[in-house]
Amino acid sequence: LLERVGFIGLGNMGFHMVNNLINAGIKVCVHDINSNVMEKFSDKGVCTKETPFEVAETSDVVITMLPSASHVLDVYTGQNGLLHRGNLLTPWLFIDSSTIDPQTSRRLSATISNCVLKEKKGCGGSPVLLDAPVSGGVLGAEAGTLTFMVGGLQEAYLAAEPLFLSMGKHTIYCGGNGNGAAAKICNNLAMAVSMLGVSEAFSLGQSLGITASTLTKIFNSSSARCWSSDSYNPVPGVMQGVPASRNYDGGFSSKLMAKDLNLAVASAEEISLKCPMTSEAQAIYMGLCKEGHESKDFSCVFRHHYSGKDE
Ligand code: NAD
Repeated sequence: LLERVGFIGLGNMGFHMVNNLINAGIKVCVHDINSNVMEKFSDKGVCTKETPFEVAETSDVVITMLPSASHVLDVYTGQNGLLHRGNLLTPWLFIDSSTIDPQTSRRLSATISNCVLKEKKGCGGSPVLLDAPVSGGVLGAEAGTLTFMVGGLQEAYLAAEPLFLSMGKHTIYCGGNGNGAAAKICNNLAMAVSMLGVSEAFSLGQSLGITASTLTKIFNSSSARCWSSDSYNPVPGVMQGVPASRNYDGGFSSKLMAKDLNLAVASAEEISLKCPMTSEAQAIYMGLCKEGHESKDFSCVFRHHYSGKDE
């Protein structure tokens, strides 16, 4: 049912995800507006198409991995988009792995389920959207160890599971449409707040005379232990192989973190839920971007927000 896979958005994440599909022996057809990256695939003999619609025409399932909601809407509902000629769609399944807000994802799902398939197949004879954002970053995308958090029809999720497992290590079904998107922005807001908490504590600790290395040992065997202290330490030199130890290059950019916090704040506002920590983290990351650190890894908050040093 899902033999022919279309993939749109061959950036930092999508590029590696497609390679993992290819390595798993899956037939793919790709599109990106960036012709350089398209060439990398056509040079390897991979099918490339000029528009999302052309990809859809030759696919049972199309996966999208795009920067933000406006790009996603453009690729699905824009001219020559995936849903162009919505009464004669070829793919029965669409999987959006971009990090976007749950509301847009739910609206898009309703639009897709109102389209008609060329041939009746898949779940219930109507086309289906799954929101399936990922965690694990560029390294996880390359290594094929991503975690997929998936919202939408459970039957479609089960059909797509082997595809997720060709690109990742874990898949978690989160419930109806938009729940994958909701899970992703909640994960990232918790990650932002814990990174700020750890950075603040290291900064205070250093000022009070205790080194970050000692404090890290204490945190990691005490109740403050978290991913930001034991796997992604923000203090240069404390851990090898993390962005903090290579001038905060690579990793997950402050710009993407600011984007995800904006999504979390907007979602909270829409339902009038107070999220003060999220708002504070949003202000800090927007500030870092304004100061020119938008392409540095988000753990650079330790250097730029707390120690105030500009190297
Ligand atoms: P990216 O900017 O590197 O890649 C996006 C790709 O989409 C680019 O190649 C771009 O040319 C292409 N694109 C944009 N508009 C297009 C259009 N209209 N038609 C066709 N192609 C188009 O972004 P990324 O880092 O790969 O992230 C993709 C998504 O994954 C984002 O939503 C991001 O928040 C999320 N994400 C990223 C990471 C990470 O560490 N980079 C981790 C988890 C989730």
